[in-house]
Amino acid sequence: CGIVGYIGHREAYPVVIKGLKRLEYRGYDSAGVMIYEEGIKVCKTKGKVAQLEELALKEMSTKGTIGMGHTRWATHGVPNDVNSHPHLSNSGELAIVHNGIIENYAPLKEELINRGYVFHSDTDTEVLVNLIEEVQKNEKIKLGKAVQLALNQVVGAYAIAVFDKKNPDEIVAARLGSPLAIGVGEEEYFIASDASPFIEYTSNAVYLEDGEMANINLRKPIKIRKIKDDSLVDPYIQELQM
Ligand code: GLU
Repeated sequence: CGIVGYIGHREAYPVVIKGLKRLEYRGYDSAGVMIYEEGIKVCKTKGKVAQLEELALKEMSTKGTIGMGHTRWATHGVPNDVNSHPHLSNSGELAIVHNGIIENYAPLKEELINRGYVFHSDTDTEVLVNLIEEVQKNEKIKLGKAVQLALNQVVGAYAIAVFDKKNPDEIVAARLGSPLAIGVGEEEYFIASDASPFIEYTSNAVYLEDGEMANINLRKPIKIRKIKDDSLVDPYIQELQM
């Protein structure tokens, strides 16, 4: 399973697809991609990244400079098109890709259903993206804060990337128990399960530690904090060997 994200000035789609192929070695049963341009566009399917490409060619405009991709190793819900990532929140404003497991998804899901949320997939991931949405709506806060508050209600393991079309200059990433690296380029950022998807574009990388999250904003330096206690962490930018 794997995650790829891009925010910058290039066409995101080829960066994301090529990145997903580099992560194929990690194993997966489904693949999906989200591209943002004026709206959120999603294409996803059970099967290989090559199948995803064929489908995207037919069904989606791949133009846009922000994107996220995912290869899934199903833990909750069978491998099929609907359970594939990315998943959107009920409003359609948030998109998430997630590797890992949300162990307490069942009570969280029940609570969200009581509050009127509808679920289309059987995944734990769709619970998380709607929990983030609910927190954001209730507290009237930005995505980063909402992700943090939601993750503090969650038991499990994750690497996630979350996008909010209300603030489309930003991707929020977080990890606990699954790896996540951020490539820092010139006015562009990459997010991936390991550095292989972005090594050809930049040799500068920040590796998130367990329990950390990052606000990756096109107009700002990267901001890293601890999910639990909100303390800021100085981003340590490593020089990768090309
Ligand atoms: N638990 C999530 C799912 O089943 C993510 C699985 C993964 O790590 O790819 O959809």
